[in-house]
Amino acid sequence: MSGKMIVICAPSGTGKSTLLNRLKKDHPELEWSVSCTTRPKRQGETDGIDYHFIEKSDFEKQIAEDMFIEWARVHSNYYGTSKRFVDEGMKLGKHMLFDLDVQGADAMKKIYGPLAQIIFIEPPSVEELEKRLRIRGTDADHVILERVNNARKEILRKHDYDHIVLNDDVNLAYGRLEKIVKAILV
Ligand code: ADP
Ligand code: 5GP
Repeated sequence: MSGKMIVICAPSGTGKSTLLNRLKKDHPELEWSVSCTTRPKRQGETDGIDYHFIEKSDFEKQIAEDMFIEWARVHSNYYGTSKRFVDEGMKLGKHMLFDLDVQGADAMKKIYGPLAQIIFIEPPSVEELEKRLRIRGTDADHVILERVNNARKEILRKHDYDHIVLNDDVNLAYGRLEKIVKAILV
């Protein structure tokens, strides 16, 4: 039996990491894809768990060596998914969990078709998303503005994906997300 690929896609500030952390705890059967990134580590993040935090030159070397199944420049940083992780997971029939931007979600759909199920998490509004980014307090003003501008564009794409979850109340949103995930894994 082949494993499923669950791709969570959401504009930055929607609350995706909050929901994903809960999903990872409740569903250890989902193998978490640790992406590589060139962005600086935030407070509370751990190298090798949240991301592999690497230098730009290392990232570019890995692109040249074809180490990524997909990679993208998001908010002025590189992010990429390990090809080896996906290939090994596929071989062993494991269910895998990804956190990707819209470019990454599109790439996975193109490669894996219905095996990759894209769940788009939507904020109640762009204003609320900006408020969440400001309350989180991990990004400089210009970074927040860049993320808010990208969010406007990404939200327009929501109907291109397999499922949409509204993150208004976090507990309700988690319930909706988990229901979709369980249905995918059946
Ligand atoms: P993302 O991973 O999408 O960038 P985070 O999970 O870091 O977003 O959430 C951004 C901020 O919003 C955090 O401070 C988080 O605690 C908060 N947050 C998440 N979900 C909700 C929600 N439903 N209502 C209000 N605040 C939320
Ligand atoms: P953040 O910097 O907030 O952790 O993530 C910024 C954006 O990059 C988010 O939309 C996240 O989903 C996306 N992202 C994280 N890892 C990857 C990856 O490996 N590939 C792609 N394409 N996007 C990623």
